[in-house]
Amino acid sequence: MPIARRKFDCLVIGAGGGGLRAALQLAEADARVAVVSKVFPTRSHTVAAQGGMNAALGNVLPDSWHWHMYDTIKGGDYLADQDAVEFMCQAAPRLVVELEHYGVPFTRLENGRIYQRPFGAQSQNFGGAQAARTCPAADRTGHAILHALYQQNIRARTHFFDEFFAVDLLRDEDGYVLGALVLEIETGQPLVIEARTTLIATGGAARMYRTSTNAMINTGDGMAMALRAGVPLQDMEFIQFHPTGIAGLGVLISEGVRGEGGYLVNSAGERFMERYAPTARDLASRDVVARAIEVEVREGRGCGPAKEHIHLQVSHLGAEVIKSRLPGIRELAMRFAHVDPIDHPIPVYPTAHYTMGGIPTNRFGEVVAPVHTGPEEPVPGLYAVGECACVSIHGANRLGGNSLLDIVVFGRAAGNQILEYLKENPFPRPLTEKAIEPALQRLARWEARGDGEPVETIGEELRRIMEQHCGVFRNQENLNQGVAKLLKLRDRLQHAHLRDHSRIFNTARIEALELENLMEVALATITSAAARQESRGAHSRDDFPERDDRQWLKHSLYLRDGQRLDYKPVRMKPLTVDSFPPKPRVY
Ligand SMILES: Cc1cc2nc3c(=O)[nH]c(=O)nc-3n(C[C@H](O)[C@H](O)[C@H](O)COP(=O)(O)OP(=O)(O)OC[C@H]3O[C@@H](n4cnc5c(N)ncnc54)[C@H](O)[C@@H]3O)c2cc1C
Repeated sequence: MPIARRKFDCLVIGAGGGGLRAALQLAEADARVAVVSKVFPTRSHTVAAQGGMNAALGNVLPDSWHWHMYDTIKGGDYLADQDAVEFMCQAAPRLVVELEHYGVPFTRLENGRIYQRPFGAQSQNFGGAQAARTCPAADRTGHAILHALYQQNIRARTHFFDEFFAVDLLRDEDGYVLGALVLEIETGQPLVIEARTTLIATGGAARMYRTSTNAMINTGDGMAMALRAGVPLQDMEFIQFHPTGIAGLGVLISEGVRGEGGYLVNSAGERFMERYAPTARDLASRDVVARAIEVEVREGRGCGPAKEHIHLQVSHLGAEVIKSRLPGIRELAMRFAHVDPIDHPIPVYPTAHYTMGGIPTNRFGEVVAPVHTGPEEPVPGLYAVGECACVSIHGANRLGGNSLLDIVVFGRAAGNQILEYLKENPFPRPLTEKAIEPALQRLARWEARGDGEPVETIGEELRRIMEQHCGVFRNQENLNQGVAKLLKLRDRLQHAHLRDHSRIFNTARIEALELENLMEVALATITSAAARQESRGAHSRDDFPERDDRQWLKHSLYLRDGQRLDYKPVRMKPLTVDSFPPKPRVY
């Protein structure tokens, strides 16, 4: 029986903040837009964002988008593309107001303006005093943004395919991307969604680690789809470990807690961040704080019976502030760490949080890739935004509060760019059966499996390998061993069997497809990490402790074909201001 087909102007894969902001731009311009999501849209990981979104509104302390730009570039250890960073920081204040008009209930000051809290690595006047740049809706900012964007999309009549799983992109012989093969999760029926343009907005992949702040669904599907379609992945070695996950579990305790005045102490009760970052202390950049915690524990100054975590002290803020500004955090601490932060410190430890790397794009959301090893060009019809993409505004280390900003700024920009493309390319290209064949084969492979180990055993091993071999501190020997282990594990996955031997449940099949994606993304991460012989941002090498701008001020590109690496220059030239040349990075 031929597979059913649906046709749209644009297919958006992913209904987090990035996908929904782009879809809204398209639907409001009367383009026919379909959004596919493997979970109900408002369950996307954006919903979990706590602390807030950065914009230089200057409501609490003086601020400017130019200072924001400087902090972002310094925070990213000079690997971010400066044109994209300028574009984002300039747009930020306007987009906060726009979100407010969409219905996001930002927290207010007494004078009625939007409240702004200090977050890590924010400064006034290019590295001066602490700034306050993060706009919160209490500590449930992502929840508010995602729900507002979803409702706006319903109003604009975006077509939703809820609980459909995208398997692979469909690309024709001339390199045009013409939609995707998707699977209805409930029935297991495949469906071809033909589209003149396709936007990947599938979020991050931090689920490749054993402890992670991420939702179970963050398995890097879109990144792996891009790899299989011949697009390289950029800067994958840069994984952010958030300093304050609940110890042992990884549940996130927002940086907003330290922004409100919380601080870290070791077993001696010492505020140890003063030794690592004398000026910014607890509000230094995340990579700096995560490393400090690991060193404290490694050197025997950890808290708890096994001395394996650090304490986050909040009780001095008083019950009033904790209840009004950090209600969700208090709930998480009580439920998962069994402590009420009004009386007791929260046990925390660094945990995998964010993928700085991803599908390479320009600041219009167009996916750019080298054409037959020649210079890079946009892949016709293909776009990417959000955590799955690498624009790159986060460089080697993302600043807290910049990701919610990233998804709305570039979601909107990609929407506009797609509208241009649709105008210039009014006629759909034919989608042949041949272009669908590889995606169908991938699906079919998972129907015949039977004799190997269970999929979930392999998943657990993958997460353990990544934790042991590609964590906060790295070295060559350990990374090389990790690559070898993962390659063997990938072979074992080829023979794995699904959860239920006798009846193939769709959820088991989806789990296998997700693990296949996670495996590709983990290999890209550890292979890129083994190749970069310097320390920059979140990539910290014991054997190469210094940043090396002469050799390594460049983006890495991982190509699946033969597991090769290539490199490309950082775009150092901003749009209108002078560039920020690399300087030593101290906080
Ligand atoms: C706990 C937590 C707290 C955070 N707090 C903050 C914060 O305070 N401030 C900040 O700036 N950033 C924060 N971040 C980061 C930020 O929230 C995310 O980076 C951002 O929301 C990602 O948005 P997205 O649209 O790219 O993807 P997501 O919101 O992750 O959405 C991905 C979408 O893709 C869909 N999808 C994925 N694969 C498939 C597939 N194969 N088929 C179909 N659909 C698929 C999913 O269903 C989902 O709809 C936080 C992150 C976490 C984990």
